[in-house]
Amino acid sequence: MINIGNHLSSSDGFLAMGKAATALGADTFAFFTRNPRGGKAKDMDALDANALNEYLKDRSFGKLVAHAPYTMNLCSDKADIREFALGMLYDDLRRMEFVPGQYYNFHPGSHVGQGVEAATEFIAAALNESLFPEMKTTVLLETMAGKGSEVGRTFEELRAIIDRVELNEKIGVCLDTCHVWDGGYDIANDLDGVLKHFDEVIGLERLKAIHLNDSMNPLGAHKDRHAKLGEGHIGIDTLKNVVCHPLLQNKPFILETPNDDAGYMKEIEMVRKWYEE
Ligand code: FE
Ligand code: FE
Ligand code: ZN
Repeated sequence: MINIGNHLSSSDGFLAMGKAATALGADTFAFFTRNPRGGKAKDMDALDANALNEYLKDRSFGKLVAHAPYTMNLCSDKADIREFALGMLYDDLRRMEFVPGQYYNFHPGSHVGQGVEAATEFIAAALNESLFPEMKTTVLLETMAGKGSEVGRTFEELRAIIDRVELNEKIGVCLDTCHVWDGGYDIANDLDGVLKHFDEVIGLERLKAIHLNDSMNPLGAHKDRHAKLGEGHIGIDTLKNVVCHPLLQNKPFILETPNDDAGYMKEIEMVRKWYEE
């Protein structure tokens, strides 16, 4: 079984995303909880959210992977930016309960010169203020490419955040193939070794979702430019190994490749074929 999908626009509402996913041949999807550049979110439409919940159940979709805005920087060096980010996280996690039991993925943030340790404390503090015991969502920290002062390039950095979160049973990790590659993890020549390292540092039980992307740049470039599957430096063989790896089964795979709908349809079909081979 593989669940695969791509990012969909939430502008037409929840049920519309479910239907759009089906039309693309997908059985999971990602969506931004608000404009990816940040700002105020639309009010939740409970009826529409329930309609999606029913739709997903009837069609055995995998878990959805909601994505926080890129601008949400919980560990900025500026107090007002941290405050704004915390407000988004707090609000998003409450809104996510309208579609209970899904994933909410975010970029840990950029420390902007303060150093990883200070950033780790800010990120963990924001999670400790925002998570609540009754929540049904699992919050995913995304593995980052290490562009600029991004936190979360190494598995150790993610582990340090998790260790500081009180309700850390609600925390998981989303592995982005482009990001780990750009971050310097050689998934082409040593996927087993990378997963073993992940297991030792974080624990594979925390690995909940995969962002499946090729990379425009070579191993360790710290760039974060996604490519279509097979059109980058990671290549088809490696991406196929990721999809088919026994330790990576039963997780939602989300495409974040530069494509239009027709391109996504093709990639979704291609990935399903790899899996069936
Ligand atoms: Fe991301
Ligand atoms: Fe990603
Ligand atoms: Zn990226």
